[in-house]
Amino acid sequence: MPVKKSAIAARLFIEITKNGKTSLYHLVQLDPDPNVAKVAWQLSKDDGECHEVAVTAAGHLSCTCGDFLWRKNTCKHLQSMFKCGLFRKEKKHDKPV
Ligand SMILES: [Zn+2]
Repeated sequence: MPVKKSAIAARLFIEITKNGKTSLYHLVQLDPDPNVAKVAWQLSKDDGECHEVAVTAAGHLSCTCGDFLWRKNTCKHLQSMFKCGLFRKEKKHDKPV
């Protein structure tokens, strides 16, 4: 029996615990311009906090949170995306393919 695409609905959540505090983020996959990013997700909390994480077209990581922008850290949002398998580390080639 064929399944209608509209009949499939899923909501993705991710729990991030840092310094003993757990936050629940709702995940929405974005459809970025391929010239800007290869993959992008929006993470939002019920309190209105919202960040966008991405792997840029050049292969760099990006997040809109202060920890990433100002402290230049691989923030908890990006770390969580890797741990959940939503972002994958790219294999580096020594020679051009
Ligand atoms: Zn972040």
